[in-house]
Amino acid sequence: MSDRIQSQREPAPAGEGAAASTDPGDVRDPRDSHVQPPAAHRSSPAAPRPMVRPISAADRLRAAAEAVQGARLSVEALDAYFGDSRVVRDVDIDFRERQVTAVIGPSGCGKSTLLRCLNRMHETVPNARATGRVLFEGHDIYARGINPVVLRRHIGMVFQRPTPFPTMSIRDNVAAGLRVLPNGRKSRRDVDEIVERALRRAALWDEVGDRLKASAMDLSGGQQQRLCIARALATDPDVLLLDEPTASLDPLSTQRIEELVYELRREITVIIVTHNMQQAARVSDRTAFMLAGELVEVSATNQLFTAPSDPRTEEYITGRFG
Ligand code: ADP
Ligand code: MG
Repeated sequence: MSDRIQSQREPAPAGEGAAASTDPGDVRDPRDSHVQPPAAHRSSPAAPRPMVRPISAADRLRAAAEAVQGARLSVEALDAYFGDSRVVRDVDIDFRERQVTAVIGPSGCGKSTLLRCLNRMHETVPNARATGRVLFEGHDIYARGINPVVLRRHIGMVFQRPTPFPTMSIRDNVAAGLRVLPNGRKSRRDVDEIVERALRRAALWDEVGDRLKASAMDLSGGQQQRLCIARALATDPDVLLLDEPTASLDPLSTQRIEELVYELRREITVIIVTHNMQQAARVSDRTAFMLAGELVEVSATNQLFTAPSDPRTEEYITGRFG
């Protein structure tokens, strides 16, 4: 399965990214392909007017930019159940590549469940199931033959409470996920390099680089959470799912994690569930608002917090419920 997913990491053909987007801001005017040639061109009667506009370097750049903006993860008609109770209801959403999307909404509205459907963690709960589609780079992650363990290497997750392995050292905690990598047998030096890189990306190296053999339990809560982020980053995921990652942290640790999330967007797609609207506003490019299992609205963060398109969003962000 990993091969199939990896083969999808080639750049998408031009236009596919745009086609996958549902944001009205991204809908290109179909008349674009009939734009007038530049004035110099028009004034020259000798130059035959091309029937089809040649693809210019600018077109290529724009197509590349659109591919980058494209949806890395698309959710279609997703329902999630615990037993008979449908707690995520008919959700459609695209998560864009190299952007941070925040998911907000009152407690119990289904934020965690939606997130856990994105890397097939939901189904690990007895009697829990999901229907609909979740497309990761065009592949349905619920299709037959997809190995959820391998999938989670591409779509990593960090939980609300730091979950370091208590009997392992700092180093071994970060390396723990590497065992599921294909051709997983790596030399100690390779592992050391991967561990250092992951700890640096998680902004923890400066604090623990000289005591990698110490127990993970010697770290503060904030450090443990960054350790869990390092563990998720060690397998080089394309998408990182964060479920209220700062809920149990002090303000300073919270700030460090937020800075980290803000930085990570340069490299990967991040989806962060938070009940803290200020946090969503600080770290995200887009925000999704959920209510009673439904996705009410997803918009550019600025817009959602200043001019939401749904009255229920407005009621929530102005504190009338929740
Ligand atoms: P949120 O993260 O927005 O607080 P959740 O996704 O955790 O919401 O929960 C959505 C709904 O699913 C809630 O009504 C919650 O009570 C229910 N729920 C969550 N986890 C379980 C579970 N393990 N078994 C049964 N119901 C659950
Ligand atoms: Mg939750």
